[in-house]
Amino acid sequence: MKIKPVKALGLLLVFVLLTIITQVGGILFLFWLPIGILINRKLKDSLQRKIAKPLSFIGLYAVATFTIIPLLAKPFGRVPMPIGSTSHIQPLTVWTCLLNRHYVRPTLKKTIEKVAGQMNTAFPGTQIAYLDANFPFMNGFPLIPHLSHNDGKKLDIAFFYKRASTDERLNGLAPSWMGYGVHEGPLKGEVNMPNECANKGNWQYGFMERIIPQYKKEVMPFDGERTRAIISLLVAQPAVSKIFIEPHLKVRLRLNSQKIRFHGCQAVRHDDHIHVQIR
Ligand SMILES: [Zn+2]
Repeated sequence: MKIKPVKALGLLLVFVLLTIITQVGGILFLFWLPIGILINRKLKDSLQRKIAKPLSFIGLYAVATFTIIPLLAKPFGRVPMPIGSTSHIQPLTVWTCLLNRHYVRPTLKKTIEKVAGQMNTAFPGTQIAYLDANFPFMNGFPLIPHLSHNDGKKLDIAFFYKRASTDERLNGLAPSWMGYGVHEGPLKGEVNMPNECANKGNWQYGFMERIIPQYKKEVMPFDGERTRAIISLLVAQPAVSKIFIEPHLKVRLRLNSQKIRFHGCQAVRHDDHIHVQIR
């Protein structure tokens, strides 16, 4: 069978994009290709083909993501974080799991479970909402755009927020649907790294704020009390080696552990989430 160059380029593009976004999606796409060829042969109607092909790929991808990938990742030393709400931990968005971006080393998972238990003793009902973790396989394969999330040792956790109208503590919710990009920025008189980094020419530092809708910022204010509590519990864990948050929040929340560092202007703002890493 002869494949036209334009079509070959299109297939290559799909493979590359799926690999960058989900790591395993590109390989699964290669496994799916014979199914696509079969659909082309069997279905004469072009509309039927246009529906059957993406649906069959999504089906194959979903089955692999929730059954085979977790089993294969285990020997590589990676386990999935909870997909639903388990042990007071949940993904902020299910997309993190659908895209296979929720894998960590077992030690990191156990550490977060322990902290989630401690958080619940202090603040009953609290759910830890995690953001991007790592892909299931291979050390050194970066989870773009987080270049350091490449070894199973890194996890981002959403800040805690409240409902402005009732002061109620919210769980599993953040003013940004994906957890990133709605910032608890520096107040007047606080150290202002976002400005300093922008002045140094690091355009990417505050980039997320420009693409993420900000309309929930006023209705979901930052819960400094619980955010301070979780960071304090995290730094107390022997397995935790580093935590990144913005310097102005470290001062404002009266946190002084040496484990809490500034990540540098080459990264992005960390006043919307906590970056945790283990040894
Ligand atoms: Zn991170």
